[in-house]
Amino acid sequence: MMKKTLREVLDKRGFFQEYNNWYVLEDSFSWNLDILQREVFQCMETFVDVPIVFCDTCDANKIAADLGQEEAEIFLFSSGMYWREIRVIFIFSFNDYYELLQTIFHELRHVMQEEITEFSTAFEEDKYRPYSERLTEIDAFHYADYCLRKFIFSLVEN
Ligand SMILES: [Zn+2]
Repeated sequence: MMKKTLREVLDKRGFFQEYNNWYVLEDSFSWNLDILQREVFQCMETFVDVPIVFCDTCDANKIAADLGQEEAEIFLFSSGMYWREIRVIFIFSFNDYYELLQTIFHELRHVMQEEITEFSTAFEEDKYRPYSERLTEIDAFHYADYCLRKFIFSLVEN
């Protein structure tokens, strides 16, 4: 069987919004996707080329399964995740705009970390550390806070 692409999988499921590789599968998502994307990359001052899917955890598991991932991940209490094996970010919580931005910054940072030498061994080592002590998590939280502050500051300025 030919391996499906994310686009093929999503086309089959249907989505409410799409913009440059970002997809909204939930009708409760009330934000404008292209404005959101522009604001995210403006704050980060960089573009990260990775698909983002806004959906619930159940859909994320189904999409990953359609892409050939057999193991179901556990998403307890998480508002988003970067699923490294299939290179897709899933965002599960999007009611509050600041929280949404923070989650996106956080998950995109995990993608950026792959290109940063000091994290090259951290991904493996972090598997054996409790969540709060993982270097990649500490860095991602720090980065997300920094970007969110920048966003809020830009609102005050204008
Ligand atoms: Zn994280």
